[in-house]
Formats: sequence, structure tokens, C-alpha cells
Amino acid sequence: MSWEKNVRKVIPYTPGEQPKQADMIKLNTNECPYPPSPKVEEALKNFDADQLRLYPDPAIKKLTDAIAEYYHVGEEQVFVGVGSDDVLAMSFLTFFNDKENPILFPDITYSFYDVWAELYRIPYETQALDEEFRILPQDYQKKNGGVIFPNPNAPTGRMLPLSVIEQIIEANRDVVVIVDEAYIDFGGESAVPLTEKYDNLLVVQTFSKSRAMAGARIGFAIGDPKLIKYLNDVKFSFNSYTMDHITIETGTAAIQDGTYFKETVAKIVCTRERVSKELRKLGFQFADSSANFLFVTHPAHKAEDIQAMLRENHVYVRHFGGERICNYLRITIGTDDQMDRLLSLLNGYLGA
Ligand SMILES: *Cc1c(COP(=O)(O)O)cnc(C)c1O
Repeated sequence: MSWEKNVRKVIPYTPGEQPKQADMIKLNTNECPYPPSPKVEEALKNFDADQLRLYPDPAIKKLTDAIAEYYHVGEEQVFVGVGSDDVLAMSFLTFFNDKENPILFPDITYSFYDVWAELYRIPYETQALDEEFRILPQDYQKKNGGVIFPNPNAPTGRMLPLSVIEQIIEANRDVVVIVDEAYIDFGGESAVPLTEKYDNLLVVQTFSKSRAMAGARIGFAIGDPKLIKYLNDVKFSFNSYTMDHITIETGTAAIQDGTYFKETVAKIVCTRERVSKELRKLGFQFADSSANFLFVTHPAHKAEDIQAMLRENHVYVRHFGGERICNYLRITIGTDDQMDRLLSLLNGYLGA
């Protein structure tokens, strides 16, 4: 068709599958195996449907204030979006507009970054992780149009200490540096305090993993008020009413329940450490994880074969294509019972 020449053609991001089986064990998309805070359920019960007649608050003030309070920053330092995917997409559009110099991110990382770069036609250059899947800070000291990486990185689970993050920011004072902290609550040290010192640092987090609310779609960014203002200007040029009333209420209830949050994260970390030991006994190799997943390989078995065996037993784990990681599986940390089932299946398969 002749009109097709004017179509913006993109190769979309492939999300992990969402199978619907009553007895399945879902360890493929890094969701939380525990329910959200009981305060979330309470907020839902108390929600008045009549509110839905009215547009929601375009500034999402209630939730923004609650997040600011939790992280001890001003509300002018917080931007809220519909999942961190929305926050990140908005950030690419707002901050990565250098047509000459590429933005930089790791070769093995969240596979949405290159999709957004392609969508917005932002030049980019990936930087290879080393043999042990570590980010090398010196790779981010060349001329560029912006820097983004997750900490801990996904799908490797490896984290960078805050001193190294600061080194990367120091070397990039003339561009925006985005640290995607989707998994920070499970181990790393957050760069949020550094946003007071560096006006070009944007830290992005999500309620999807550690706060058990992937289905509600809540993400946020913390940074200098000027960065936040620029983000809001773009958001309000795009869609003013991004977050609905119900999500604003449940999200606020979730962030205010710090006790439940910390308990849930502690349980997951405890399970991760136990399962790490068991998987190593079975011959799996992997670096220590600072996230709610393990990125593992087995010297004697193909990752795809292990994944197929697990799938036959209704246990779902994630496998990625790509030369360097195609023999790895990313396994989300579930409940202890779920992980015991995984371990017993692996035991049977590898022992056979
Ligand atoms: C899960 C994830 C996100 C996106 O999470 P949302 O559900 O959109 O908040 C962003 N970055 C990384 C690295 C992730 O793993």
C-alpha cells in the first residue's frame, strides 16, 4: 500500500508470556509471589465508584506526595507514571535528543531500551558487559547523548556499588544519566540520595516487583526539580490523565505500608539465598544476585531443554535469545513452596 511508506515501523518489545493455568508456577516475569499490602485491599473496598465519573487528578498529587514522603524528598522531585515503562519511555523522549552522539547502555540489559531508542530514532551504542556480566564504568566515559542502565542489571542480577554509579555520573555531567532501579529493593544501594548532588541524575523505580503491584502499573522517577518539570511538560503534551483514581488510591495505600513491604522483600531475599545454594549443588553456575531472580546456566544441559521440561510441568521460567545469553535461564524467586517444586523437578531431571 502506498500509505505504508509513511508508517512508523517498529519491532515491538516482547513481554514475558502470561499463561493462565490454575496450577502453574509463574517464575518468568519477576512478579512478586506474595499479595500486595492488606492496606491495598482495604483501599479497594473503600473505593467509591462514583469517583469514576470524574477525571482523575492530572498531577497525581496524592501518590506523588506519598512517594516523596517515603523517600524523604520534595514532591517537586517526584514524577509518577503508569509503570516504570511509561516513566522510562517519557524520559527517553524528554532527555535523549542528541542527534549526533549516541546514548549508551549495556549490550545485555533490559530489552526495552533499544526498542524505545528505535521508536524515537535516538542513536544508541551498546557497551559489552565483561565475561562475568559486569558493567565496566570506563565504557561510559566516552562522548554520548545520555546514559541508561539498570542497577541491579537485568537479566544478570548483578549490581554496581554506589561509588561506581557516582563515578559514571561524574564522567557524564553534560548529559542525563538514568539509573533504572526496578530491582533495587532486593539488594543494591539506591542512588536516590545522589539526586541531591547531581542535577543530571534521574532514578527510576517501580511498584511492579518489590511492592507486588505489577497489575496496577505504577512507576516513578526521582530527580532534580528541573528534570521533573521537563518530564511533566512532556507528559502533559502527551496525555494528561495517565493514572486512574483506583490506582492512585491503592498505590498510596501500598507505599504507606513500609512494614509489610520490608517483610515481603526480606522473605524473597531469604528464599533467594537458600535456592542459590541448592541450585549450585545441582551444578548451576551464576553470579550472586541482588535482584528477585537468578540468571543461571548449566554446563551439561541446554537452557532451552531445561525450560521445556519445566514448562511441561507447568513451571514457567524465562529464556532470552542472543548469542551471549542463550544458554541461560532467568528464574524469578517465588514462595518457598514454589521454589521447592522447581528444585525437585530440576533434581529429577539432572539426576536422571
Ligand atoms: C520490570 C522492569 C521494568 C518495568 O516495570 P514496570 O512494570 O513497567 O514498572 C523496568 N526496568 C526493568 C529493568 C525491569 O525489569
